[in-house]
Amino acid sequence: MSCQKSNRQRCIESSAPFLALINRMDAFDPIAPAWTETAIHAQGFCCPTCRSSPMAAQRAWINRRSPVFMEDYRRKWQEFYQCECGCVWWAWSDERPPSPLSPPEPQEEHW
Ligand SMILES: [Zn+2]
Repeated sequence: MSCQKSNRQRCIESSAPFLALINRMDAFDPIAPAWTETAIHAQGFCCPTCRSSPMAAQRAWINRRSPVFMEDYRRKWQEFYQCECGCVWWAWSDERPPSPLSPPEPQEEHW
């Protein structure tokens, strides 16, 4: 049915920016990608150079192999982003502002 098809298409398009980001992520690669080596620590969970959000990042990588335990026994880890301006930055996962586009909370995984 053409109307079902168009509904589905609309759904895909509305989530496309995030899916596109996921698709170019090495996000869950266990090995740190080479581009993360020059990352600088960003404040405010945005690019320290141009203030773009992680959603504009060309690449992302989450260092889930090396979580840091906080005082309340929650974990946090470094999230690396390569901004579209070329800047590579990282920030702690617990500093990420809540967003409906956030990836699922990795804390629920058992590993
Ligand atoms: Zn930038």
